[in-house]
Amino acid sequence: MTNTPDNKRSIETVLAHSGRDPSGFHGFVNPPVVHASTVLYPDTKTMVTGAQKFSYARRGNPTTDSLEDALKEIEGAAGVKLANSGLNAIALAILSCVKSGDHILIADTAYGPTRHFADTVLPGLNVDVEYYNPAVGANIKSLFKPNTTAVFTEAPGSLTFEMQDIPAIAAAAHEIDATVLMDNTWASPLYCQPIAFGVDLSIQAGTKYIVGHSDVMLGTIAASEKAWHKLDTLHGAMGSHVGPDDVYLGLRGLRTLSVRLERHQKNTAVVLDWLKTQPAIGAIRYPALESDPGHEIWKRDFSGASGLCGFDFATRTTQEQAYAFLDALTLFGLGYSWGGFESLAIPVRLKGMRSATNVDPDLHSVRLHIGLEDPEDLIKDLGQALDKAFA
Ligand SMILES: *Cc1c(COP(=O)(O)O)cnc(C)c1O
Repeated sequence: MTNTPDNKRSIETVLAHSGRDPSGFHGFVNPPVVHASTVLYPDTKTMVTGAQKFSYARRGNPTTDSLEDALKEIEGAAGVKLANSGLNAIALAILSCVKSGDHILIADTAYGPTRHFADTVLPGLNVDVEYYNPAVGANIKSLFKPNTTAVFTEAPGSLTFEMQDIPAIAAAAHEIDATVLMDNTWASPLYCQPIAFGVDLSIQAGTKYIVGHSDVMLGTIAASEKAWHKLDTLHGAMGSHVGPDDVYLGLRGLRTLSVRLERHQKNTAVVLDWLKTQPAIGAIRYPALESDPGHEIWKRDFSGASGLCGFDFATRTTQEQAYAFLDALTLFGLGYSWGGFESLAIPVRLKGMRSATNVDPDLHSVRLHIGLEDPEDLIKDLGQALDKAFA
């Protein structure tokens, strides 16, 4: 059972039914893929008064409406906007709630390109960027300045998987009327419902689990009542638009999100159960494990776990050994992104990637995405790679 945003239909049912209107499209189950720019008006009066649903395809068409409506229901949002990548969704969400002279707090464990955006774009707009330790919880209050207007969260953190006490951070931020943002890509809206926790802008790299097949770049931003108007205005002003074929593939992915995630979760549990018995492996980073420092928060706030996890090699591992392990993998591809049906691995070094958290710069870690293959085959692959690297 997963969270039910509307307290009526289970989210699995909402995933299957939301954003569809068969009777509006001759009974066809799915909405049409509308390739469009110009929309015609029946007369000048309708045109100049804007009295028709669609005005110009940059501002939306029946295909984008369908995905936005579906996510609006799934996320319990006042409104949803689509972006052309997850990073674009993050940038638009931040720009919608900061202005010159403001101070934004960003979790130290935020996705690397989020930091890059904050460090390269925001200072030029006279926005003061400060990174905070993700474990801060309600003590985030102590970091507030008179000009703090936004708090950016991400849980679990990128590469290192630290959980954050989102409800406590959101409650504190709302006391000063700051906007709370959350990158919720890891859990997807199926396993975590940020708006119910007080998050104002709930962000997905739709590229990952919503699309689910490694074939489209997509971002989504779901907004609370408080954040919606500014987001809608900024999004329109920036001319953001996602092509209908990509939107359609996002919709198509959404329909099977619950079965895919259930399998990713199950496979990950099997693989990690084996991995933790291996002498070359140090800490495993995955909040669904009881041994994980974020487990209690995960259990309280999330209704499931995805296929993205990490592990550290035992401390005396060299870079050569870490790379030899990765190079020996045959089923795990070496590649960025994740959320597709396939297993992936990347090397992780945290040197220079954190400024408010203590990290061991010499530690060698790996991020794994556990795909939909048979987990026993994945274990064999990891086993032979460990044997080769640590022979
Ligand atoms: C991949 C990712 C993004 C960015 O998504 P893109 O679609 O690749 O731009 C943002 N946040 C997290 C946590 C991600 O893993």
